[in-house]
Amino acid sequence: MNKDLENLLSELKAVHEDLRLIPTEMIVVSDWVRLKCRYGCENYGNHLGCPPFTPTPSETRAALSAYRNAVLVRFEAKPDPKATVKHASRAISNSVVKMQNTVAELERAAFLAGYYKAFGMNAMPCSLCDTCVIGEMQKKDQAVFDLDSVKCRNKKTMRPSMEACGIDVFKTLQNAGFRPRVLKDCKEMVELFGLILLD
Ligand code: SF4
Repeated sequence: MNKDLENLLSELKAVHEDLRLIPTEMIVVSDWVRLKCRYGCENYGNHLGCPPFTPTPSETRAALSAYRNAVLVRFEAKPDPKATVKHASRAISNSVVKMQNTVAELERAAFLAGYYKAFGMNAMPCSLCDTCVIGEMQKKDQAVFDLDSVKCRNKKTMRPSMEACGIDVFKTLQNAGFRPRVLKDCKEMVELFGLILLD
């Protein structure tokens, strides 16, 4: 590892200790991933950090080709013991907000260290607002367009989730030496991962 990257990793670890440097060739983008968003996820079209407002898999592949190194950032979220399957993602929303703020902080730290291309990505639908601006527009029957992502209230912090951009997060984590697994109970500890593209 070159000295610059070594110094950067120390700086990033001062923000959040649990992160791992990976070559971007370990990141897998697959066209099937957004089927899981489009069919079966109630957040599809309801958050600006989710499809159809996020980069398509083709756009993601093209963007990733401009990077060689990235860091995967690991977080743990303990769900509310009263959580139900229907509200499983809401049960960890505080942890998602913490992750989103930390990913933004890491992106900024990398940028200020000279990694001017730094770009953060999250996991899960954005939880920064109680109701996303897009949800409010839909309630008022206002027309919604792909470019409505410009209406986000928290542009400095909000970044799309990896899966929303077509990244196969499971395969990527396995390639990086993690051991992701499917959770079968909404009360199990959740591992969340963010990604910072570096250079
Ligand atoms: S920050 Fe608020 S407005 Fe922006 S995507 Fe998240 S929930 Fe929606």
